[in-house]
Amino acid sequence: MTPTRRSLVILGATGSVGGTLLQLVSDQPDLHSVLGLAANRQVAAMRKLCHRHHPRYAALADRAAARQLRRELRRDGLTIEVLEGSEGLQQLAAHDDADTVLAAIVGLAGLESTLAAARAGKRILLANKETLVAAGELFMQAVAQGKAELLPVDSEHNAILQCLPPDSHGGELAASVRRLLLTASGGPTLRLPMDALAQVGPKFACTHPNWSMGRKVSVDSATMMNKGLELIEACWLFNMPEHQVEVVVHPQSIVHSMVEYIDGSVLAQLACPDMRVPLAAALNWPHRQASGAAFLDLTTVGSLDFEPPSLERFPCLALARAVARDSGGGAAALNAANEVAVAAFLNGDIAFTHIASVAEAGLGAATREAPESIPALLELDRRARALAQRAVASHTAHAVAV
Ligand code: NDP
Repeated sequence: MTPTRRSLVILGATGSVGGTLLQLVSDQPDLHSVLGLAANRQVAAMRKLCHRHHPRYAALADRAAARQLRRELRRDGLTIEVLEGSEGLQQLAAHDDADTVLAAIVGLAGLESTLAAARAGKRILLANKETLVAAGELFMQAVAQGKAELLPVDSEHNAILQCLPPDSHGGELAASVRRLLLTASGGPTLRLPMDALAQVGPKFACTHPNWSMGRKVSVDSATMMNKGLELIEACWLFNMPEHQVEVVVHPQSIVHSMVEYIDGSVLAQLACPDMRVPLAAALNWPHRQASGAAFLDLTTVGSLDFEPPSLERFPCLALARAVARDSGGGAAALNAANEVAVAAFLNGDIAFTHIASVAEAGLGAATREAPESIPALLELDRRARALAQRAVASHTAHAVAV
């Protein structure tokens, strides 16, 4: 069957996931069209994308950057309407002429535009995991009320989507499923001696053995907070309790995740580690299109290894599992504090091994109940970030003192 032609809005167009989707779209220009591109403040990168893809709209969250982009596009003779600020992104995400929105802004900064797409009933290709982790219930309510369709593009959740019965995504999961098995590569630190972890710097942490990704998610992969966030995300996406989501370390990143059924069958999705595969699957779901990714030759892969994750090496995974277990504000607080911790690490302010304690410090802001509104969520997020900043400062002060 032929895939439906999609009119796309790409939130996070200048990033790694956004760029990969644009590559897919330009490889098959007759299949889909680009209505709008959105990012934060990278004017030169956005201008280049505008020349290549000729969207009707471009949006930048940073207003000064948006004004500069508008001037430059006018000078270039391109008639592209430039929207600005958070409301510009929301307007684009909810545009009547868009049917599919890629949510690929990094961090909670993606919350409002992704929510706008959900409320407007779009088909959402979800990469931005922080929104679902922090605002799980509120976001899923918006998806249900807006009658939006949620399709995960994170390779793990996309693999699970592919292994589940066709009618079960985003809603009631068949009672026949025993466990979801999320695979984790273990990232660049998997085999490092424990006493070398404190010396891990941003460059090493961002050099993932199998994937090329943005810096934040690369650091999250190195600490395995990424897998923790994905665990929480899986609970929301597939309506599963935390104890039915397992994490398995699989260093080759060939098996992208698995579904275990109650009869003992385990269904896995395998592919070369290339984001074009889950993006193509989500874009056309339930149909298929060529992705351009290399085909998998298992005879050259040789062996596929699996092992349990070490919580001593990856304390962030334990933190995420703990907050996934309760239904309060822990996930939002952990997510916020982790964003602060990763930014501080990338800035050289704290050591790699401090990330977990800074993230944990944010849990002091967690409320017993999950926030019931977006303003309440944003207030919780603000308090968790303040606590995490304090923890960063105490590590920095200690580093200066010793
Ligand atoms: P990148 O860092 O490569 O790109 C981030 C994008 O978000 C950029 O377009 C950036 O714009 C935009 N952005 C950042 N802050 C804002 C803001 N305040 N307002 C609007 N736009 C903003 O990230 P990735 O593509 O790696 O990851 C994006 C999301 O997808 C993350 O949540 C990540 O966890 C998830 N993900 C990533 C995968 C990957 O392979 N990279 C795989 C699966 C999930 P600008 O360039 O202007 O700053």
